[in-house]
Amino acid sequence: MNFSPRLEVDLDKIKYNAARIVALCHQHGIAVLGVTKGIAAIPQIVSALLEGGVDGLADARTENIIELRNEGFTAPITLLRIPRLSDVENVVKYSNVSVNSEIEVIRALGRAAQNLGIDHDIILMVDVGDLREGVMSENVLDIVRKVIQIEGITLQGLGTNMGCFGGILPEYSNLSILVELAQEIALKVGVSLQVLSGGGSSSLLLVEEGGVPAGINQLRVGEAMFLGTDTTNNRIIDWLKTDAFLLKAEVIEVKTKPSVPIGNIGRDAFGNIPEFADNGMRNRAIVALGKQDVYIEGLIPVDDQTSILGASSDHMILDITDTRQQISVGDELEFRVTYSGLLSVSQSKYVTKVFRKDAVWLS
Ligand SMILES: *Cc1c(COP(=O)(O)O)cnc(C)c1O
Repeated sequence: MNFSPRLEVDLDKIKYNAARIVALCHQHGIAVLGVTKGIAAIPQIVSALLEGGVDGLADARTENIIELRNEGFTAPITLLRIPRLSDVENVVKYSNVSVNSEIEVIRALGRAAQNLGIDHDIILMVDVGDLREGVMSENVLDIVRKVIQIEGITLQGLGTNMGCFGGILPEYSNLSILVELAQEIALKVGVSLQVLSGGGSSSLLLVEEGGVPAGINQLRVGEAMFLGTDTTNNRIIDWLKTDAFLLKAEVIEVKTKPSVPIGNIGRDAFGNIPEFADNGMRNRAIVALGKQDVYIEGLIPVDDQTSILGASSDHMILDITDTRQQISVGDELEFRVTYSGLLSVSQSKYVTKVFRKDAVWLS
């Protein structure tokens, strides 16, 4: 199992995180969808979420959902990115539910569902302020009246997304908008909605504090399951495991060099003009991992005395002057990943994935 670079995935820790999140949410009457887009829907990891007890799966991409179906997953799957008009057939064929905000697309989903002789559920996304996808709340009633007339479509409920674009935090007040809209829909349109979907990992803090308004009964959680973090609230979730993923890359050069390049500075490999502080002679290592493999800014060296100086397509350069252990060519350096690091490394074909389950490494 010594392929390098290599992402080591501890499935036991992911299962543990899923089980803890599910237990907390279920205590508050909230169902949990395990969001698989951050790990490119890698089947072993998806299985760990299901073993942890998630109520369903969700992914932003039909391509991933089709793969999950081909791998034999039968759990309900929600499509989390509002569908492309060009993709409605796949959406109704492979996912049980999709989130939506455009009536034209919902009508097309309805036609596709009818053609297949099935029914497709939708969650209508409401924009409560983050300004990514969703209908503005004043327009919800109007679009709901149209949606309920579309054959082949069942309006399962309302949902909202926060944190991702505008960095808006989930709060009692903005989640209450969904609850109030659902009450208004029941009263004025006579439809009672099954699901009010109140966000992702960034909503967990509110669940912990008991601050989620009654009526919100679903979360769609990715980041916290895998990394035990909540980037939007800038916190480590102290009751989750944060070390399920470890990236290892092999050292291919170790040398002492000046900290400022020698000669006239033009552009680097990506068209930027690099700047360097003069810290004298430093010990440096190059590892066989670059921008083609992973989003470098999403990596954190495990040894906090090691720092990443930069990277080109295929080489990453590190300052190892103060690193605790002696480093030689052929050694491996270890990195934790942030959410953006995880996104990139999961889908990188250059990074081998190895899995640990029931405390045993699988190959
Ligand atoms: C990615 C995504 C999620 C999951 O977010 P996390 O922060 O990873 O928990 C939930 N809902 C939607 C619509 C998403 O796109």
